[in-house]
Amino acid sequence: MMLGLTLFLFGYLISMIYTSIFYHRALCHGAISLSPRMAKFIDRTGMALTGIDPLGWVCMHRLHHEFSDTIKDPHSPAHTGFWYTLVKQHKSYERILSRLVLKDARLMAVVKDVPFDVHALNKKQLWWLPFFYQAFIGVLISFATHNSLAGLGYFLGICGHPIQGFLVNAFGHGVGYRSFDCPDQSTNNTPVALLCFGEGYQNNHHQFPSSPLFAMKAGEFDLGYLFANGLESLGLLKIRRDLIPLTKIMGDKATFSPSK
Ligand SMILES: [Zn+2]
Ligand SMILES: [Zn+2]
Repeated sequence: MMLGLTLFLFGYLISMIYTSIFYHRALCHGAISLSPRMAKFIDRTGMALTGIDPLGWVCMHRLHHEFSDTIKDPHSPAHTGFWYTLVKQHKSYERILSRLVLKDARLMAVVKDVPFDVHALNKKQLWWLPFFYQAFIGVLISFATHNSLAGLGYFLGICGHPIQGFLVNAFGHGVGYRSFDCPDQSTNNTPVALLCFGEGYQNNHHQFPSSPLFAMKAGEFDLGYLFANGLESLGLLKIRRDLIPLTKIMGDKATFSPSK
């Protein structure tokens, strides 16, 4: 059981570092700077490790910010309901990827600053391959350790991002509190934020999308920012602290007030 949990956390850490720190804060919003070498490394390893195409992820997320909670939002629960968000996010991702493969001008403009192409596996409709070999690695781990939970823990940790995505997209746009009166339904959901590297603070994030820090007031905790600091101390990235809003620096005495 302990080994399964440890390997789950190991896989989960890799998955969240890629999605929350590299894809989201760095590539999508420029809240974290990456050297060209580091960006290339993420391009080469992101899809292989997590099964998520960096260009496709960034494109979908930018569309989410552009059309938050409108009918054009790729994964809002606002118009299709809470549970359907899980299906909707997957369908939108597939559709966006296929349009990017065809060099759709509208979507290419959304990601024109991202120095990647759609990953070769997605161009060949082999999106499932990373999931397949990660599952195979999980089986090997289970055989090697004589512990079925060890391999399962690893696989769920590194490939469980559709669940994290669902939690953030569904709970972060309807369940929780609002600190900012931004023109969407974004909410701050504490349990999801704690589970998902601070990503559950969607209301804070939609108010200040370019901030590398998602926690904005006392009592909010952003684990992703903490790990970003760790990666920065290893020289792997640079956090744009100048983009953290003044409201955070002012702490609880900030000028904003809960709106709903
Ligand atoms: Zn959102
Ligand atoms: Zn964002």
